[in-house]
Amino acid sequence: MPRSYLKEPHKRVAPKRERIRPIIDLLAAEHQDAAIALRFRTPLELLVSVMLSAQTTDVNVNRVTSKLFEKYRRPEDYLAVPQEELEREIFATGFYHQKARALQGTMRTLIEEFDGVVPRTLAELTRLPGVGRKTANVVAAELGNPQGIVVDTHVRRLSQRLALTRQDDPAKIERDLTRLVPRPDWGRFPHLLIWQGRRVCLARRPRCEDCVLASDLCPSSRV
Ligand code: SF4
Repeated sequence: MPRSYLKEPHKRVAPKRERIRPIIDLLAAEHQDAAIALRFRTPLELLVSVMLSAQTTDVNVNRVTSKLFEKYRRPEDYLAVPQEELEREIFATGFYHQKARALQGTMRTLIEEFDGVVPRTLAELTRLPGVGRKTANVVAAELGNPQGIVVDTHVRRLSQRLALTRQDDPAKIERDLTRLVPRPDWGRFPHLLIWQGRRVCLARRPRCEDCVLASDLCPSSRV
């Protein structure tokens, strides 16, 4: 289990139901460029990028996919090569053996069950081999059909520091957030927390002095 930030909140603030709207609006104004950092042109490239992004950085994935997507344009292309060839091409993203196997399994299922088209619902996306709930959530949201809220390490940390959840487990955090965050904001909410987490609310030392939530919206504020 990664480090928990549940013990940090200590200041008295309004209930989370009253804070969530201003939190979203202030973060949206602060991070107008908040968006997924993976580069893709089609739903298929999106799916592949998100699958490759497990346990590595978006920068690393973009470096690999800039070449990969020149060669692999359709699901059939991923099945036209031996798994070892695909492994070599995605090697730099780590866990290349599992990822290559998952990619080929996913492409096979896409062709056999979805006419080669990336589906848009969580239920369908999670039927693809190697596609878990987090990957499915990211893909569905980017395709304009968010059905949950993506919980990564930044979303987890900020949700805990902002006392939007009392949970450590990502699935339970997601449940709390979907009850709290208005549905039209489900897609952009994780991006806002991710960018705030990367730029301001750093894991080791949050820069509360530069944070738009510091005054009375964050119970963990140090200023
Ligand atoms: S940086 Fe902002 S969100 Fe993070 S603990 Fe400080 S006030 Fe809260």
